[in-house]
Amino acid sequence: MFRPSTRQNLPSSSSNPALEVKVNKRHSGIGAGSSGPSSRYPYRLNFYERPPTLDITLEEFETFAIARLRVLSHIESLSHRSLPYPQLVSAIQSYTKQHLPLSSNTARAVNLDEERRRDEIGHWVLRLAFCRSPDLRARFIRSEVALFKNRFESDDVHERAAFLRSLEFDWQVVNESEKQTYAEQLKSCMWGQKDDAFKAESWFKVPWYTVPDLVGSRRVYVRAGMAYVPQSLQISLVLQAFSSRLEKALELTAKNLPRLDEDERLGPVIDHLASSFLSGIGATDYQPADGSGNGSAVTAEMVDDVARKHFPPCMRNLYERLKRDHHLKHFGRLQLGLFLKGIGLPLDEAIVFWRRMYGSTMSDDKFNKEYKYNIRHSYGQEGKRANYPPKSCQQILTQNQPGTQDSHGCPFRHFSPDNLITFLSNSYPQLERSSPEMKEIMDSVKSTHYHVACTRVFELTHGVKKGEGLGEGESVGHPNKWTDRSRELERDVLEKIKKKEDSDEMQVDV
Ligand code: SF4
Repeated sequence: MFRPSTRQNLPSSSSNPALEVKVNKRHSGIGAGSSGPSSRYPYRLNFYERPPTLDITLEEFETFAIARLRVLSHIESLSHRSLPYPQLVSAIQSYTKQHLPLSSNTARAVNLDEERRRDEIGHWVLRLAFCRSPDLRARFIRSEVALFKNRFESDDVHERAAFLRSLEFDWQVVNESEKQTYAEQLKSCMWGQKDDAFKAESWFKVPWYTVPDLVGSRRVYVRAGMAYVPQSLQISLVLQAFSSRLEKALELTAKNLPRLDEDERLGPVIDHLASSFLSGIGATDYQPADGSGNGSAVTAEMVDDVARKHFPPCMRNLYERLKRDHHLKHFGRLQLGLFLKGIGLPLDEAIVFWRRMYGSTMSDDKFNKEYKYNIRHSYGQEGKRANYPPKSCQQILTQNQPGTQDSHGCPFRHFSPDNLITFLSNSYPQLERSSPEMKEIMDSVKSTHYHVACTRVFELTHGVKKGEGLGEGESVGHPNKWTDRSRELERDVLEKIKKKEDSDEMQVDV
């Protein structure tokens, strides 16, 4: 890890630009209070070639990285959900607008420098976390390229042109006489477009290996080692340049990473970021329902009904096991108990619920002495009185791996394929054993995209259009979010029915 006080131990920025981030305990204030772009951030788009030399607080170091991680994870998840391209673009845009906004220079009432500073710092911190293995590097580059592409395509045309000029690419412009010499070959790459389109098109020459996607899809003419690329395919060149520069930078960072292992403050943060990405999910905030007047409170009596209709697979499994065995092991109790607290089961109702579930297998005395304390503890009423939050998918997927006798964990990750198919088809009647949908789910599981599989189960069991997820394309990242959204959808349906009944009644009265 790098530490501010030992910067003399680190290579200079010229030899190792990847490490040129300074962490201090105060805010630099750069960008604060101004609304136009500064000379440091003249454009919205960024190739991240100049490492930030700003002072940042430790808190910013982590929060900016988490914000970006959330966006990259979301992009990765969306890219595995086979969405139509326009839907993919709009899902990425609406998510980034919320979690990592980045406005054009023409935007009003926005602190552009502050937005760009967050974006830049988040990117550089994640480089530290994701340079460690070829797999992590490849996944990071793929998501970063997709994010850059989305921003590039939605950027202001003039700003984008100015940004590209600033990069000073060494693309050779094909002059008119060369264009006419190879007119036939160039036209054949334009997929039957009219002559007018060919006349209006301008062309660049670049080494063929810098645009393998265009060569592979035969959209460029290759001669003497150079690919002739039309202006309309410029984005491929830009993305290729972005990706190859990032790849080289990550390799350089990886070589120097051992030097960073000295800092005890940053190590855990970086490890956590990497493991979040590996489990396929960015950090997910969840604000538990408090059950106070928002219609979300649940009583012990209601749990069975809510479980049947609104529990995600992991909780459904735990609940069914509890009902069958009247017992759960420690981590199972913890996972289900905190989840129930999150959906709005108050402490007194939780005590009633657990007492009932244990039934006659346990004496009142034993329950009061050994179990009641733990329930109160998880509600912050005993011990150090911490109010423990419900576990996120990332925690369930990566922490406390279940043994053969355990029921906690995530079925998509911890069940064998056969058991998972049986469990899903028994628990959710909409999912038939040998249906194409089940195959699709199992394909996601096979490629270790567990949250993608879980999101597809949500869509199929709630009549939600493919790609919509929990709303606006959001993937399942927290079991409680599944349940909240499921209950919300039910409320919407009930309201619609009530409105219809009211209007029918009115018509009868008239
Ligand atoms: S992906 Fe998350 S919500 Fe879905 S089953 Fe696994 S842990 Fe539960």
